[in-house]
Amino acid sequence: SLTIGIVGLPNVGKSTLFNALTKNDVLAANYPFATIEPNVGVVGVPDPRLTRLAEIFGSQRVLPATVDFVDIAGIVRGASEGEGLGNKFLANIRESDAICQVIRAFKDENVVHVDGKVSPKDDIETINTELILADLQTIEKVLPRLQKESRIKKDIAPKVKAVEEAKEILEKGDTLFAHGIVQGSERAELLHDLHLLTTKPFLYVFNVDEDELTDEDFKNEQRALVAPAEAIFLNAKLEADLAELDEDEALELLQSVGQDEPGLATLAHVGFRTLGLQTYLTAGPKESRAWTIKKGATAPEAAGVIHTDFQKGFIKAEVISFSDLVETGSVAEARAKGKARMEGKDYVMQDGDVVEFRFNV
Ligand code: GDP
Repeated sequence: SLTIGIVGLPNVGKSTLFNALTKNDVLAANYPFATIEPNVGVVGVPDPRLTRLAEIFGSQRVLPATVDFVDIAGIVRGASEGEGLGNKFLANIRESDAICQVIRAFKDENVVHVDGKVSPKDDIETINTELILADLQTIEKVLPRLQKESRIKKDIAPKVKAVEEAKEILEKGDTLFAHGIVQGSERAELLHDLHLLTTKPFLYVFNVDEDELTDEDFKNEQRALVAPAEAIFLNAKLEADLAELDEDEALELLQSVGQDEPGLATLAHVGFRTLGLQTYLTAGPKESRAWTIKKGATAPEAAGVIHTDFQKGFIKAEVISFSDLVETGSVAEARAKGKARMEGKDYVMQDGDVVEFRFNV
């Protein structure tokens, strides 16, 4: 499955955040015998629709979609030079499908900042510089060879041009992501086999003081720093406390700081979106469940997420939109009112589709 690597300078609250994430680990809760890697947190993406479906179908349990977060230690200035920890750090980032930067905004004299002062802007620059330098090294290793090759192999000219363009952007101190050259896009396609770090989608977690959680001016300033990446504002210590509480107590604590959902829930949603994922839903007496697919997946591809045989033997999908199902109150009523659609193999799945697949075995 796709993973989001968590990176950040030392002492910004990564471990605190990661511990809160692992306390919410849905694998640990739902699959007590699953092997769980110490540096991976499998976090549920809260979905109130599942609770509603469970009521309609009398489901025994609810299984949300999940996002995997990987704790990647070790970014410091000079990490791109690839000594020891730096090397491992870069390899770990390369394996991630998105990069989540944790940025310190909280002030606390008792917690030392590696560069002596709290400055989100400087910290973002420090991290991005390491990623940019690593990408430039990669490019400098392959570009001369590519340029030479292109004198004979004319068909690689577009690739050489894409790499030269990427180099120019990086030399200006920008990430490729900031220029829309992001994994999965057409512009990134020609660079694919270079595995460049800054073509990964980014998201930012600002670890803020409690009073900053509701400070819109402050938050807009930070959002402007990181756009087009999304920004999430949370207090890591508060998230760790929330993870210890039962639902009612947690809600009370959240409301006392002007929030209506835990920062971790927002992080799971944004992370899911940043990975380019979406869900479809299935429901029955056993379980109501959200299944993860890539945006744009077709009905047979979606069926394949449940079982490869469902994809191979796919005949059609009976689809009812979640809102139609809630409005009519049951599958039978939805069918009677003409709200159940039979979709074939070219159907592109939509968010909120409640599905039953028909297939040959
Ligand atoms: P890491 O090095 O990035 O993993 O940072 P840690 O999670 O170990 O946190 C470093 C220190 O900052 C610890 O003493 C934490 O208790 C403290 N800390 C983490 N988050 C917050 C926060 O939101 N506010 C305050 N005041 N301290 C925090």
